[in-house]
Amino acid sequence: MSAITSVIGFPRIGANRELKRAIEGYWKGSLDLDGMRAVARDLRASHWRLQKEAGIDLIPSNDFSYYDQVLDTSMLLGAVPRRYRDLGLGAEDTLFAMGRGYQGERGDVTALPMKKWFTTNYHYLVPEIDGDTEIRLSGSKPFDEYREARDMGIETKPVLIGPYTFLKLARGPQGADLTLEGGLIRDTGEAYRQILARFASLGTDWVQLDEPYLVMDKEEGDLELFRTLYRTILPGAGEGEGRVHVLLQTYFGHVADCLRTLDELGFDAIGLDFVEGCDENLAALKAHGVPDGTTIFAGLVNGRNIWRNNYAVSLGILDAIRQVTPDVALSTGCSLLHVPFSVKGEEGLDPRTVRPHFAFAVEKLGELHELSILAETDEEGKKASEQLAANQKLFDGTRVQADQAVADRLASLSESDYVRQPDRPTRQSIQAKELGLPILPTTTIGSFPQTREIRAQRARLRKGEISQEEYDSFIASQIDRVIEHQEAIGLDVLVHGEFERNDMVEYFGQNLNGFLFTSNAWVQSYGTRCVKPPIVWGDVSRARPITVRWSSYAQSRTDHVVKGMLTGPVTILNWSWPREDVSHRIQTEQLALAIRDEVLDLEAAGIKVIQIDEAALREKLPLRRSDWHTRYLDWAIPAFRLVHSAVRPGTQIHTHMCYSEFNDIIKDIDAMDADVISFEASRSDLTVLDAIQAAHFETEAGPGVYDIHSPRIPSVDEMVDRIHEILGKMEAGKVWVNPDCGLKTRGEKETWPSLEHMVQAAKRVRREL
Ligand code: GLN
Ligand code: ZN
Repeated sequence: MSAITSVIGFPRIGANRELKRAIEGYWKGSLDLDGMRAVARDLRASHWRLQKEAGIDLIPSNDFSYYDQVLDTSMLLGAVPRRYRDLGLGAEDTLFAMGRGYQGERGDVTALPMKKWFTTNYHYLVPEIDGDTEIRLSGSKPFDEYREARDMGIETKPVLIGPYTFLKLARGPQGADLTLEGGLIRDTGEAYRQILARFASLGTDWVQLDEPYLVMDKEEGDLELFRTLYRTILPGAGEGEGRVHVLLQTYFGHVADCLRTLDELGFDAIGLDFVEGCDENLAALKAHGVPDGTTIFAGLVNGRNIWRNNYAVSLGILDAIRQVTPDVALSTGCSLLHVPFSVKGEEGLDPRTVRPHFAFAVEKLGELHELSILAETDEEGKKASEQLAANQKLFDGTRVQADQAVADRLASLSESDYVRQPDRPTRQSIQAKELGLPILPTTTIGSFPQTREIRAQRARLRKGEISQEEYDSFIASQIDRVIEHQEAIGLDVLVHGEFERNDMVEYFGQNLNGFLFTSNAWVQSYGTRCVKPPIVWGDVSRARPITVRWSSYAQSRTDHVVKGMLTGPVTILNWSWPREDVSHRIQTEQLALAIRDEVLDLEAAGIKVIQIDEAALREKLPLRRSDWHTRYLDWAIPAFRLVHSAVRPGTQIHTHMCYSEFNDIIKDIDAMDADVISFEASRSDLTVLDAIQAAHFETEAGPGVYDIHSPRIPSVDEMVDRIHEILGKMEAGKVWVNPDCGLKTRGEKETWPSLEHMVQAAKRVRREL
């Protein structure tokens, strides 16, 4: 006997990123549409089989996507804005046009805005609904994929983004707020009712509707919206024998404030996350109880981190849930989309001492299965269980020695170590004199395209085919090239291009004590783009200077100011796999001290402008407002200040953030006390500028003037308009002109013309001032 197991979603990119290669091959024209589809089909089949063989009962389908599951949902519901429909492309190409823009024979359209998926580093495409949109069931992807699995003899549980989450994430044109009027709600409910009815007619047993938006704070009318939608939808599941069971799946937090509403609606099952939001979910279950006939799907296996599950802890939570209801199934906490494929082949991780501590997606299937057996084993059996004993061993004793020097250094810090002197306005005028920049200074975010040649050289170095000297002189030549190019097009603050870095986090990790690296642990970030986070294994400190050499080399090649480039502590932690045995706060503070050493070395080497990227700071802001400060900002913001507080007044500290959703924490961003911030504002709405205006934001700012996530080349006029828009809300003396993020994922051929246009745009507006 074992408890039922359910997987919320499985990574689709493939064990070796086969999907990425196929799609990019298709974009480049080296693979045709059928070729790409065949790769996708094979991946789906092998992932279903894997889950089947691992003994998973409810295996997801429709968790596959060529680009993004939210974008798929928009397509399924017919929310395709006219400008994309007018291109007259086939289904996949329309999807890609919405995901990455289209510039070609059929037209020139920008991509939909892209945002981070809750607190993950996965990005979804924001659904756009305008007066023209008619929401109705407009595609067959979920049914096709369900049938595809069934034809292989595998019964799956189709997974869809639920209507509530879809509507809450949707925006009007240009990112405007959307009024959810009755017609829209009715049509959306009706479309989902039909989806359930269609599955009922196919004889599907379970359908999973993902409603992660339920873990967010509620606004007025939210619960009523939820009720209205589901009262329309649920009858579609049918009655009696052929009825589809509906699993309402939540994740990334707790639903304590709406569990009662969920109970009322009569779902067959409610999926709760006991990894994030465990205490609150448990307390809510105890307080409300569970209606008869509702199964609780307990999310116990972490879909957000790669450490082995602690079985004793999970079984303890399960016991607590069972005191409320005996009707419990076991599940992942969220989709496994957010973890890499498998630890198999990670030869760099010691198979005896290190690898056993980790479980990626495939291994998590095994954990779920083992837990489901242990869940039904009596106490005597558990004592005898080898699995439980082996698991317990991982958590007993010392996994890694603590670093006393790091602990001492942290303990010796005082208030003043977190405060930079003098105040910002005083610094700003000193810096204006020392740096002598024009009004609306132009710069970039740091990286230049990582061409195939650069990646190939790095691979050669790794394989020992070229010497370190050869590699270094290659990097130097790349720096020379971009310095010259930047001078030629007239940029004001130059960068060295970050060619020596494989990745903005891994590169730093490689020069810090306490980190481990994987060779193939890729996770999807957006579209075909994947990231490979390093692992925090022990206490962190700087092993050696990291960026000084190449930054000073670049500065020696030009009379312009060259900006030094660092990754900040919060981002390093957020884009790594953090430890689970030490708090995030302490890990961040350790990182802050390490990067502080680097800042001071850069300054001593004559670097006058230093950018400390906090690309991922916003990403981990807790979903519930009441947790923002207590569980995050109260230590994350001071940690950033600790990094730069000891520099001279004339040294200009920049920071950069991806995405601009920080309207609500604008004061906290100001409290980081940087001199300049650049951020993304080109692919999302401009409301952040209103917030900047309203808050009397002190930090100088460069809201990106063009979108680097798309291969489009923006025109000068387009960027002039953009700058005007910015100047409508900000004082000219505080505005910087820059792209919205680093250029490493772009090609040379769009990068340089785009930057040239950007500099021309800045010059044109300067003349008007
Ligand atoms: N400096 C980094 C770069 O330019 C910043 C990247 C990022 O924000 N994601 O690539
Ligand atoms: Zn960025």
